[in-house]
Amino acid sequence: MSVDVSIKCSCGSVTGVARNLSAGSTNHVKCSCRGCQSYAHFLGRTDDMLDENGGSNIFQLDPKNFEIKAGMEHVVCMRVTPDGPLRWYTDCCKTPLGNGFPRGGIPFLGVLPICLGYKGTSDEVVKLVGPVRGHLNQNKPIGLSEKLRNAGMLARFACQLLWWRVRGGKSWKPFFDEKTMKPIRKPLTISEDERATHEAKSGF
Ligand SMILES: [Zn+2]
Ligand SMILES: [Zn+2]
Repeated sequence: MSVDVSIKCSCGSVTGVARNLSAGSTNHVKCSCRGCQSYAHFLGRTDDMLDENGGSNIFQLDPKNFEIKAGMEHVVCMRVTPDGPLRWYTDCCKTPLGNGFPRGGIPFLGVLPICLGYKGTSDEVVKLVGPVRGHLNQNKPIGLSEKLRNAGMLARFACQLLWWRVRGGKSWKPFFDEKTMKPIRKPLTISEDERATHEAKSGF
């Protein structure tokens, strides 16, 4: 069974709906990379985004199912590194929305659950999109079973992405221009100094 859940930034200026959420229609992962941790520090929202080991819960979906209905003027994006993913958030209250590719076309968005009102590790997220299927970029050696689990997750996700693309065609909403497939906002890229400051807070 899939459900629709309201998107709402913390101050309420940006609202929308994430549709058709289920374990089958999404891919729930955890990522502990430098970029995701720096991003949480950049927004000043580590309590809402990171677990005790610096992991961010993210669930990936076809962005056609992620509709912003109000407050689009508050939606902006940044990159932690010049070639990193675009990280979309609200400038009114620094609520993360989702991470994606630098250009439109590929139907992929990694949603941060706090924009639906849930902390990443909460039971509600697991009820919505199923358990975490893989944990990427851990800052420690992992065993064979976990490596296999991550490989299985990535293979499943590759199939999902292909299916979304074949079934739904190109994807640009809500963050790209339909004609040019360029992002609707110029991404903010933080300086190396600022990045180093955020990384140091995460212990890198
Ligand atoms: Zn807001
Ligand atoms: Zn990451």
